[in-house]
Amino acid sequence: MNVKDNLISIQKEINDACNRVNRDPALVQIIAVTKYVSMETTERALDAGLIHIGENRAEGALQKWEALHERGIWHFIGSMQTRKVKKIIGKYEYLHSLDRISLAKEVDKRLEEGQVMKCFLQVNVSGEESKSGLSPEEVIPFIKELSIFKGIQVIGLMTMAPFFDNAEMTRPVFRKLRKLRDSIMVMKLSHAPCTELSMGMSNDYTVAIEEGATFIRLGSALVGRE
Ligand SMILES: *Cc1c(COP(=O)(O)O)cnc(C)c1O
Repeated sequence: MNVKDNLISIQKEINDACNRVNRDPALVQIIAVTKYVSMETTERALDAGLIHIGENRAEGALQKWEALHERGIWHFIGSMQTRKVKKIIGKYEYLHSLDRISLAKEVDKRLEEGQVMKCFLQVNVSGEESKSGLSPEEVIPFIKELSIFKGIQVIGLMTMAPFFDNAEMTRPVFRKLRKLRDSIMVMKLSHAPCTELSMGMSNDYTVAIEEGATFIRLGSALVGRE
């Protein structure tokens, strides 16, 4: 796998998708998901100019951060066990999987005075049992409850669409997340600006971009699997 070549073709797909819907490609950020690859490949991703790195398990997350943290911006994208929060706090800047008050409480508690965690609320739009996240109906009441935690900044919503052979089938999922995001954004809550949408993976990112994704999370198509 040559990360640089992959990135060139992905960037073209991103530009094409943006052109189709009149979006500025500069507003779509790529998170290189390195959970399946080595430290060396993660370095290749950074060498190729990628800066956002995503990991989904606390152990791998910590190892990569320790070796390479000065070169990247770090996103925790997997489900987070409350007892592992302390491992990544102050290191990972973004948490894509906030889905319960107990987790918010622990993150807030572990942060130092004045620090904030940029959080996405994970939403299970499709209702698949195998996926975690809040149901769409739970999101707004949950956001209201988060206002007591000074360190939690809700910057957006995140979802994983079900896998379909035809990516077009994911569109209603992404569209629903965007509409929910829009309805929160207009509330202008200081702890929840909610301007971002973390959605789209290797198989469905072009559809996600057409539907408004601001962060796409790419693993296999970008850095491969080892
Ligand atoms: C693994 C993973 C990805 C990347 O998956 P690919 O299909 O390999 O692009 C994106 N988001 C989350 C939450 C993941 O766990």
